[in-house]
Amino acid sequence: MARGKKIYEGKAKILFEGPEPGTIVQYFKDDATAFNAEKKDVIDGKGVLNNRLSEYFMTGLGQIGVPTHFMKRLNMREQLVRNCEIIPLEVIVRNFAAGSMSKRLGIEEGTQLPRPIVEYCFKDDSLGDPLVSEEHIAAFGWASQQDMDDILGLALRVNDYLSGVMYGVGIRLVDFKIEIGRVYEGEFQRLVVADEISPDSCRLWDIETGRKLDKDVFRRDLGNLTDAYAEVARRLGVMPKGTGPQKPTLVN
Ligand code: C5P
Repeated sequence: MARGKKIYEGKAKILFEGPEPGTIVQYFKDDATAFNAEKKDVIDGKGVLNNRLSEYFMTGLGQIGVPTHFMKRLNMREQLVRNCEIIPLEVIVRNFAAGSMSKRLGIEEGTQLPRPIVEYCFKDDSLGDPLVSEEHIAAFGWASQQDMDDILGLALRVNDYLSGVMYGVGIRLVDFKIEIGRVYEGEFQRLVVADEISPDSCRLWDIETGRKLDKDVFRRDLGNLTDAYAEVARRLGVMPKGTGPQKPTLVN
């Protein structure tokens, strides 16, 4: 499919105009960044795996009635998605303490939380995506109270779905981040899960061994990132058995 004009290039993806109005082509790069892009590398095959895994999770969410921006995968690195206005929040759901929460509150990594905890960060790289409260969100008009109710509902449904799917393949969903977009239908707006869901945006630990199968492998230099993502894909049956990450190609 001929790609349209480049709209935006982020740390892990590039967005192009889609073939129809209201559509976007989302291209998954191999670039990995951490600590607000202070650490960078190109990880052969990461984009291919994230494209596949995000397709898998978004499709599954759609099947249980959770609206997403996903329309279809186009090829190894690209998917067609609905254009939406991204709410400038990173919505984080945590089931076990890890990462910034462990650091902030002094809770040992891996401690089970009494219930899933939802946090919001203001999406702004230059500020390092600071944690904000619902007071900030309301006061600065980033989302209405109705939006916040809907976002909380979506976040918890994604958490239940993802936790269950991962548990079924022996993986603990420690935490994850999603982004929410507004889609306009005539006069109405609807909120959908947007961006991507992949091991770049989740913490995934093997239940038996505790092996990390997510971007912490890159952040903390724990080994080969593509091997970890390929293991998640293999367990979910997303990649054909015996195939490792494939070389970058735009052909299916
Ligand atoms: O770093 P922190 O512990 O706050 O991350 C919580 C979760 O959100 C992790 O799964 C992490 O991968 C994800 N995250 C993300 N993008 C960010 C910040 C966090 O995907 N900019």
